[in-house]
Amino acid sequence: MGTEAADRRILGRLSALRAGDLPVRGGRTMAYVYDSGLDGVEELASEAAARFAGVNGLDMTAFPSVVTLENDIVARAARLLGGDGHTAGTFTSGGTESCLLAVLTAREQARRTRGVTAPELVLPSTAHAAFHKAAKLFGLTPVVVPVDPDTYQVSAGAMAAAITEDTALVVVSAPSYAHGVIDPVSEVAGEAARRGVLCHVDACIGGWYLGHLRLAGREVRPFDLAVPGVTSLSVDLHKYGYTAKGASVLLFRDAELRRHGWFAYASWPGYPVVNATLQGTKPAGPLAAAWAVLERIGTDGYIALSARVHRATTALAEGIGRIDGLRVLARPEASLLAVASDDPGVDPFVVADEIRSEGWYLQPQPAVAGSPANLHLTVTAAVADEETVRLLLDALGGAVARARELGPARVDPALAEAAALLDPELVGPEEIALALELAGIGADGALPERMAPVLAVLQSLPPRLTERLLPEVIGRLYRTGAP
Ligand SMILES: *Cc1c(COP(=O)(O)O)cnc(C)c1O
Repeated sequence: MGTEAADRRILGRLSALRAGDLPVRGGRTMAYVYDSGLDGVEELASEAAARFAGVNGLDMTAFPSVVTLENDIVARAARLLGGDGHTAGTFTSGGTESCLLAVLTAREQARRTRGVTAPELVLPSTAHAAFHKAAKLFGLTPVVVPVDPDTYQVSAGAMAAAITEDTALVVVSAPSYAHGVIDPVSEVAGEAARRGVLCHVDACIGGWYLGHLRLAGREVRPFDLAVPGVTSLSVDLHKYGYTAKGASVLLFRDAELRRHGWFAYASWPGYPVVNATLQGTKPAGPLAAAWAVLERIGTDGYIALSARVHRATTALAEGIGRIDGLRVLARPEASLLAVASDDPGVDPFVVADEIRSEGWYLQPQPAVAGSPANLHLTVTAAVADEETVRLLLDALGGAVARARELGPARVDPALAEAAALLDPELVGPEEIALALELAGIGADGALPERMAPVLAVLQSLPPRLTERLLPEVIGRLYRTGAP
């Protein structure tokens, strides 16, 4: 077989695998993916990434192109998000890496400038899980501040009360992922500054959208580096920048603060190392793709996209409020909706299964810490035309009616009771196997078609036990050893 034919066959196999995935374009997958709906943007990003696929951002002296691209992108983010002549930034692989680096930088800054040896991380219960990952990886103690159970807002007073001499960083979100709520950034950042503590704004999902919505003339509560006391901010380009995956920016008040998070090492026999991020070899493809997409869409383009998304989010929130059995949790301040049920006969996860059979993916968010079971909708530009909004509302109405007929997914109360008594630290392989079987997860980690029963079981377990089970599921999917 010639190489051309072989390549076609290889690419054909990749396409066949992709056919089993959720679609990344068209707006019907309302989590994980972001579609601008603009012609040619994805193709441009792919071509830009391909041209930089071999480039290694590890050594900026060998590949000076990466410096130019990164400086351009960071300057653009700083201009949009309240930066000034002192603002510094870093391009990272995504929101999680930006959040990790914000925490690492703060830990080092607190140690070096204030002698903090047992650092704490103050954050609302609605902050992204990435901050708990950071705390775990970098040895900080999370101090979790509960939010108001009706508004999902954290009180600035409660945040202030959680700050101690050991606080390395205070985190607020603009907005939170789960409910789309903007925390009281000004109040919290002001208090942090008064106490000499750094304050990070997690604008991973909302920064690009809110910054351009403000330029569109909409009122947006202050959330960015222009707010006194805000010392760093993360904003993902692979979300509302609509660029290829692997693109986020972490902005700092100034270069001195940024430098606390860098790693340099010259005491080994290899090349001298200096890293601003967690990666060593650093793919330049996502950087080039992001630069190209930012150039292509441009400020005016993003303003128009944000305005579209805003209109669609408002229309969806109103429409969903009119569907008997559903309610929108929290007043949407950004482009995210959390949709719960106000009828015990309507199980949101059954609604998700029903609407998925019609090609819509709404993301289940299990009940936790006062937040009821709900469905998460990330509204992107591709869903924003009136016709698509109407189609979604119709599909949702139909799915709710069918979910009401089917009834909620039930968990055996005896099982839930038994599970609550298990010590997550002590459960053995047999109990885990049993729990996964009860949840309907196969020995190979395969998930059933309908997820509501699985989610009902998971939701009935203490979160610590779920945290014990999830890696087991993944471990079964990623089998080791030769076939
Ligand atoms: C998406 C998100 C993150 C994490 O970003 P990834 O790109 O998924 O790693 C962090 N914070 C918030 C608010 C987010 O929405």
